[in-house]
Amino acid sequence: MLGTMQDGQLSIANLLRHGSRIHASAEVVTWTGTGSRRATFADLGHDAARLAHALRGLGVTGDQRVGTFMWNNYEHLVTYLAAPAMGAVLHTLNVRLFPEQLTYVVNHAQDHVVLVDGTLVPLLAKVLPTFTTVRHVVVVNGDPAALKAPDGVTVHSYDALLADQPDEFDWPDVDERSAAAMCYTSGTTGDPKGVVYTHRSIWLHSMQVCMTDSMALAQSDRALVIVPQFHAMSWGLPYAAVMVGASLVMPDRFLQPEPLAAMIAAEKPTMAGAVPTIWQGLLAYLQVNPQDLAPLRRAVVGGSACPPALMRAFDALGVTIIHAWGMTETSPLGSVARPPAGLDQEAEFGYRVLQGRFPAGVRARLVDDDGAELPWDNEAVGELEVAGPWVAAAYYRVGEGEEGAEKFHDGWLRTGDVGAITPDGFLRLTDRSKDIIKSGGEWISSVDLENAVMAHPAVAEAAVIGVPDEKWDERPLVAVVLADGASATPDELREFLRDKVAKWQLPENWTFVDEVPKTSVGKFDKKVLRAAAANGKLD
Ligand code: ADP
Repeated sequence: MLGTMQDGQLSIANLLRHGSRIHASAEVVTWTGTGSRRATFADLGHDAARLAHALRGLGVTGDQRVGTFMWNNYEHLVTYLAAPAMGAVLHTLNVRLFPEQLTYVVNHAQDHVVLVDGTLVPLLAKVLPTFTTVRHVVVVNGDPAALKAPDGVTVHSYDALLADQPDEFDWPDVDERSAAAMCYTSGTTGDPKGVVYTHRSIWLHSMQVCMTDSMALAQSDRALVIVPQFHAMSWGLPYAAVMVGASLVMPDRFLQPEPLAAMIAAEKPTMAGAVPTIWQGLLAYLQVNPQDLAPLRRAVVGGSACPPALMRAFDALGVTIIHAWGMTETSPLGSVARPPAGLDQEAEFGYRVLQGRFPAGVRARLVDDDGAELPWDNEAVGELEVAGPWVAAAYYRVGEGEEGAEKFHDGWLRTGDVGAITPDGFLRLTDRSKDIIKSGGEWISSVDLENAVMAHPAVAEAAVIGVPDEKWDERPLVAVVLADGASATPDELREFLRDKVAKWQLPENWTFVDEVPKTSVGKFDKKVLRAAAANGKLD
């Protein structure tokens, strides 16, 4: 029997119509380096219409891919809404990819248009001649004359292109299961893999972002969106904000601790989202330059494990860190660490440092090496697999038997993350399968060691990798970045760990580095560390 309810597409066009009308006065603030420029959600609706007309004029008549090579700002948000709402597919390009990877993803997705921020024109110019399908480049907040176009490519100014366009658009009624946006992830081996979100998956994921036991994004919020729009859709914050009318504070290219602190002082965000390394940097800055962070009350941290010491430090500053886990393949929110009710503070903390509880839309299971399901007893450790309406079922244009297809089987996504699950549904990751250290037949979690070392006051950052060992197969090597002006010896650090990790896990290999190499999205780049260690560069 069918239900008797109306049908309506969960589309980005409907999201935009709603947000720009009902929440017309919500703000989008973009940091300029010295201050802010401001627009409202009503402006967003009009500018999205203008951009859609302009893109139609550039031949975007169907599901062409519209690439963005941009920072987090108002124009990027306009494109986030306009491209999917008109039936095209937004393709966010990571501005920190290696040139060859950028060429690969643009050509693989067959981008037709690329919008580029003025400051990123020199970067794009180098690879533009290698793009095989791009016909138009639109320069946003910059001089189009600065970009010499190869044959067959026309360069436009965003402002000029939008200037005379109508501020209303007859948004088509697209099928909610069609493609809305895509993002490539470098988390796998081989070439980057494309994840294609649907209108429906974005809509459902946005509702999840706004749930109380999730990021709890609400109309009363001003969200400081530090996690890049080119990385896993800014964790879904832009679309969720349009859904509930939360104002957005966009940092543009100013991602260093000092301007972030200035933005917090001037624009008074109530919540923020960023990977741990950003918070580590901000913390170090605030220790030297104290500042009242109010009304900033919560900070969502994910992308890699949040060190407990970081959580305690921000607690002391009045900002509650909410730890979350996810992947590009999971839209990205997969679990959020909101402790169960009725616990004392320390017991709550024990839950908050976990990766979090699965929401209704995400099914999860743990499997061992043979694919057998493991119990949720917080003891059994295996690979996490997830499924649900905002979890990828395949990579774009990766067919059966091709590299990357092995991540999906029987309706489940193999996450490559290893850990346990508590009886009450909280994920506790111990490591990524490729980062786990195998020593004397036992596993050592690189993340646990890192967290333990980072709790030492002289340590700003610590990354742990496995290095070959004749006797034990592998042993941990710790690369330490000391805090400004601090000092510590390997012996002191080892001593500090003595009551924190098992004796056989105590690392004997230590190296002091100026910085831990980071990936394009700010995570520890253990591939680079491992290569440096193999070449004797970390001795
Ligand atoms: P990349 O693999 O390029 O980093 P993603 O941003 O999709 O791409 O990263 C997803 C991965 O990040 C997860 O599979 C997991 O290993 C890691 N991750 C994300 N959040 C957390 C977290 N809270 N704790 C530990 N690891 C995390």
